[in-house]
Amino acid sequence: MSRRSVAVLGATGSVGEATLAVARNHRDRLRISVLAAQGTRPARLAELAREFRPDLVVVASGDGAAALRSELPDTTSLTCGGQALLDAVGTGGLDLVVTAIVGAAGLQPAAAALAAGADLALANKEAMVAAGPVLHRLAAASGASILPVDSEHAAIHQALRAGRPQEVCRLLLTASGGPFLDRDPATLDAVTPAEATAHPTWNMGAKISVDSATLMNKGLELIEASYLFDVAGSRIDIAIHPQSLVHSIVEFCCGNGIAQISANDMQYPIQYALSYPERWPRAAGSASTGLTELLQTTSNLEFRQVDPVLFPAPSLARAALAGGGGAPAALNAANEIAVDAFLSRRVPFTAIVPVVARVLERHDQQAVGGEPESIEEALAWDSWGRRHAREVLAQFGG
Ligand code: NAD
Ligand code: MG
Repeated sequence: MSRRSVAVLGATGSVGEATLAVARNHRDRLRISVLAAQGTRPARLAELAREFRPDLVVVASGDGAAALRSELPDTTSLTCGGQALLDAVGTGGLDLVVTAIVGAAGLQPAAAALAAGADLALANKEAMVAAGPVLHRLAAASGASILPVDSEHAAIHQALRAGRPQEVCRLLLTASGGPFLDRDPATLDAVTPAEATAHPTWNMGAKISVDSATLMNKGLELIEASYLFDVAGSRIDIAIHPQSLVHSIVEFCCGNGIAQISANDMQYPIQYALSYPERWPRAAGSASTGLTELLQTTSNLEFRQVDPVLFPAPSLARAALAGGGGAPAALNAANEIAVDAFLSRRVPFTAIVPVVARVLERHDQQAVGGEPESIEEALAWDSWGRRHAREVLAQFGG
């Protein structure tokens, strides 16, 4: 069996590490050729390089590079900077690029990989939100596939195999509800970054953890699902499901719904994307229990409505998707800026979603231009959103 040549972007992060855990269990099928990361954890990156012996390690920022060089295997090259990352994934030779970079910083590498014909296992939802239709066009032109890694989207991808596209009626995205689901809203002003990043069911990077606490994550996922599966936002529902076991549901026109269930461990959707269209055996020890045992020890599976007053972020994202133009990219960019301001303690948790809402108001009133037709246009909308978010943040004292 020939092994697939894989690049892992964001290798030292939560999804990156889970991807490498899958690769560790399937060494006969996957060869890790490129490892890339920001460079803030050089010791861990070097450790991974010594284990997987890739041809190339790329760090986005120069700071991490100096410490790394002497720690890599002799057969591993090291390059540094944004262009080096684009070269690494854009020059061909890779079968699959797993993108687990956080934020719109992942957009250009995703586009470069697709343009070069590599399949893209996409965890980096912000890239899809900022430029979904453009990424699809790049994939269609090169013959590459985009495979969702986000658990809800991997669930939908699996459920869609039960019917034909024209038979799909609605998608139901499930949401854990995050750490503040049942918290008194009056206390949210005072929550700390540590509280906001302590997710009840998933162990994730800081930015997506905050997004889960505001439910902006589900808003981004609604846009991601609409672009990935070509289903209008008006046909996508969201339900709170605190157990995070049913990862999403596709309802077909006949009224039958197909739900996907697995333990809340990212290795399941990651392995699905890496093995598609095959299914590989679950590695021994990748989850402590089998599915039957898991369900037998779960006393109930709950589904509730999202309270739109308590959690306005999904509605904002729905409006941005319906409004079109640069709104999805601007929403994503404004959210990145606002989350960063919260994590660095410049604004309270309760400022995040209002900042995004103000930027979207400005988009609707002032912005000119249509749907991004290219990665450059999407990046221009991203910059627009960041600039306006910084202005709005100043009004919030951030
Ligand atoms: P994380 O913060 O744990 O890791 C991010 C990784 O990206 C790190 O390795 C970092 O070094 C790297 N990185 C950041 N900027 C970079 C740049 N400019 N160039 C190269 N590398 C860069 O984040 P995470 O939780 O693993 O999330 C990654 C992405 O996956 C996000 O888009 C998130 O929304 C999505 N996602 C995460 C989960 C999860 O369970 N963590 C689930 C679904 C989707
Ligand atoms: Mg998700």
